[in-house]
Parts: sequence; C-alpha cells; structure tokens
Amino acid sequence: MEATSYMFGPYKIDKKEVFYSTDFSYALVNLRPLLPVHVLVCPRREVQRFAELTTDETSDLWITAQKVGKQLESYHKASSLTFTIQDGPQAGQTVPHVHIHIIPRKSGDFEKNDEIYDALDVKEKEMKQSLDLDKERKDRSIEEMAEEADEYRKLF
Ligand code: AMP
Repeated sequence: MEATSYMFGPYKIDKKEVFYSTDFSYALVNLRPLLPVHVLVCPRREVQRFAELTTDETSDLWITAQKVGKQLESYHKASSLTFTIQDGPQAGQTVPHVHIHIIPRKSGDFEKNDEIYDALDVKEKEMKQSLDLDKERKDRSIEEMAEEADEYRKLF
C-alpha cells in the first residue's frame, strides 16, 4: 500500500525517503544517520509510546524490522544488527512517534561496540559540542536520501 507522503511525528516524510511499507508500517532512511547506514521503521499511525500500538501493529512493526534488517545487513555486507527503540523522552526519544532504529554493524564501526547507545542518546545541544558526532550527524539532502531509498526499494 503506497501513500504520497507519510508523517513521522511532526515531520512530513516524502515518499522518496520511504523504501518499504506494509498496511501498518513503513521504513525510511534517516535524515541524520549515526553510521552510514541507519534506517527507521515506524507504525503508519502516529503514536508516541510502544504500549499504544495494537497487537497487529506491534507484530507488523517487528516483522517489518526483521525483513529490513535482514536485507540491509546482507546488502551492506555487515555481520550484525542493532535494533533499538527509545520509548519516551527520558529514554532519549526525540521524535514522538514510535520508531525502531535499525543499524547494520561491522567490526570496528565504533571503537567500543556499545558506544552506539551513547551516540543514540546524545541530545541535540550536546551534539553540537562534540565535533566528531556533529560531523556524522549533518542533515542530508533529499536527493541523497532518495538515492539511498531507491537502492533499498529494489531489495523488497
Ligand atoms: P530518537 O532520538 O530515538 O527519537 O530518534 C529520532 C531519529 O529520527 C534520529 O535518528 C533522527 O536522525 C531521525 N530523524 C529526525 N527527523 C527526521 C526526518 N525528518 N526524517 C528522517 N529521520 C529523521
């Protein structure tokens, strides 16, 4: 089922950024990825907290995340996957719409494996003070995001 655009919390997401969708969920590329490959899977319905999802939405979301993770790990020749939900502001959520972060992992991508969780949790203002993280978290252009999504759409 295809829509012309999707909402991700307050943000309107162009369908060019979306590379896979189901009746209940959609997968999009990231505006500010933590690693070169860092995508998001969301329910179509805009709810902030994981517990607000219905059983159908919950199972569809995770089945979608499983498919997306499997395809992207193989496409990028990665060897592991980080799946993360920051469920609520005190858990680091910045966009009030449930989303699973999916990040294919390779040996040495972070000096210490679990530093990815610190990076995910860094708030915007702290990010601006950290040159390294700031460098990796620049907003990307719609063209760059669309190009990445075009590649992934072929995998499904
Ligand atoms: P969280 O901090 O867990 O709520 O994660 C929010 C995620 O959404 C981060 O990875 C952001 O880079 C990403 N993000 C924020 N705005 C957009 C947007 N308009 N399009 C795509 N990704 C976004």
